[in-house]
Amino acid sequence: MAQSRQKDEAVLPEVFECPQCERQFVVDLVETSDDRSIWCPQCGRYLGEKDVNFILVTEIEELTERLRFERDRLEKDEAVYAMTDCDVELRKYGTEIHKVVNILRRTMADLDALKQSYR
Ligand SMILES: [Zn+2]
Repeated sequence: MAQSRQKDEAVLPEVFECPQCERQFVVDLVETSDDRSIWCPQCGRYLGEKDVNFILVTEIEELTERLRFERDRLEKDEAVYAMTDCDVELRKYGTEIHKVVNILRRTMADLDALKQSYR
């Protein structure tokens, strides 16, 4: 059986997006190179150092971004369906979804607090 090694054992490759020019690129966060700085290959903006804290902060930021998207989506649902003149079932959805939104908010606050501890 042929063993396929598609990539050379890269540890923790991460996709970055430059906040300045929005170029996306991949960085292997753990490597033996002396230069630990991460620069945007397009505009040259300095993005940070490759270390474990940086990896953790990056992961948390990505997760928070996804949660924020979902929270916004559910908040809109909540605003629509919590209104009086709709179907009983839908109105129940509107009030119950509020609980889910609250959990998302708490989780995002927890993640933010955790993120601060890695700074
Ligand atoms: Zn850039």
